[in-house]
Amino acid sequence: MSNATEQYLEAMAASSEAVDVPMMVDYLIQDSLARGASDIHIEPWEDMVGVRVRVNGVLQWLVGIPSEHQTNIAGRFKVMANLESHTTGLPQDGKAAPDNFGGVQLRVSIFPTVYGEKIVCRIFNPNAKTFDISRLGFDDETLEKFKELTSKPTGLMLLTGPTGSGKTTAIYAAIGYLLEKHGNAVAVSSVEDPVEQNLDWVNQSSLNPARGYNYPAALRSLMRQDPEIIMVGEIRDEETAEIAINAGMTGHLVISTLHSNTTSGTFARLINMDIEPFLLASTIIGVLGVRLLRTNCMHCAVPYTPEPYALEQLLQFEGNEYLQALMDQQGFYKGNGCSACSNTGFSGRSSVNELLVCDEAIREAVMQKRASRDIQALSVEAGMRTLWDSGLQMVVDRKTTLEETLQKVAADQV
Ligand SMILES: [Zn+2]
Repeated sequence: MSNATEQYLEAMAASSEAVDVPMMVDYLIQDSLARGASDIHIEPWEDMVGVRVRVNGVLQWLVGIPSEHQTNIAGRFKVMANLESHTTGLPQDGKAAPDNFGGVQLRVSIFPTVYGEKIVCRIFNPNAKTFDISRLGFDDETLEKFKELTSKPTGLMLLTGPTGSGKTTAIYAAIGYLLEKHGNAVAVSSVEDPVEQNLDWVNQSSLNPARGYNYPAALRSLMRQDPEIIMVGEIRDEETAEIAINAGMTGHLVISTLHSNTTSGTFARLINMDIEPFLLASTIIGVLGVRLLRTNCMHCAVPYTPEPYALEQLLQFEGNEYLQALMDQQGFYKGNGCSACSNTGFSGRSSVNELLVCDEAIREAVMQKRASRDIQALSVEAGMRTLWDSGLQMVVDRKTTLEETLQKVAADQV
């Protein structure tokens, strides 16, 4: 199955016409969008320019382009992103809004390598917006709890997960829900690094660390802007954590993300940033852990037998109700690979989550600096449906493989 870029290059090779690089770049963008890519990697190698695209979190091959076009391709992206065309050998970053792609934006990053400039474009496709709270993989009960928590006028709601786990999508969906609920009667402001998608009715601000406009500076200024709901892109240092907590204690609902491998480990992570446990206990209203699992391609999914290691790991969770359902059903499904999924067996990703609600018992445990696994156990006791439960539910529903679930979810359980 050849794509538009390949077809164009073949047609040019067969004719006497020269390759029109801007046109070829348009084909590259078109092919990347057709695959639902989040990033395009255009890499100069010794013998060609290799183009790969990230689809559902995994890089896949798109096309190889003769090396002779490498300089012109880089030049084309520099023009599109208003970068210095004559500069080579230094990194450059910019934004481009190519014509003819319905509002698609590219964040262009140029990086000098020994074979020439490598170009990576992050794609922001407004037409593929999926900031819908109902698509975050909540079960009904957890969704109600999440809505209840985010309806509080004050406090700090945190979203956690490793890089690429869907935190940004989840936080945008949460803000989208709040706007839907309150309409334009609330003042919502965000500080992000950088703003990834423009949201209606949200005053979004992109950081500029080179000029000292970092999270603490932005938040201090924002506090004088009379916001009710504040979204902080990420809490990654003590100062940002302090200001976010202070805002959450003084009549604002603050929603932010934190890089943490486990949901219950969020408290320890913040205590390590020297935040007093009593401040955490009195401000944090809940922590939502999110992960993205690749979903089986519906065109080629068939029953299969999981790898022995996966079945062995599964047995460690004996007694789990979702595991029981899976065993009773006796069926695991996996995509075999077909043209619809570019032979990956997967098509799209689905979010799974766990919502830790800070009740009295959890607050007490945080104050006592109890271990993360104790906090996890208390949440489960209080009825939390874990990431592992949500992941297994997807396996039961034949939506993903056991291996994918173990890799993305089980290892993170305390
Ligand atoms: Zn398929």
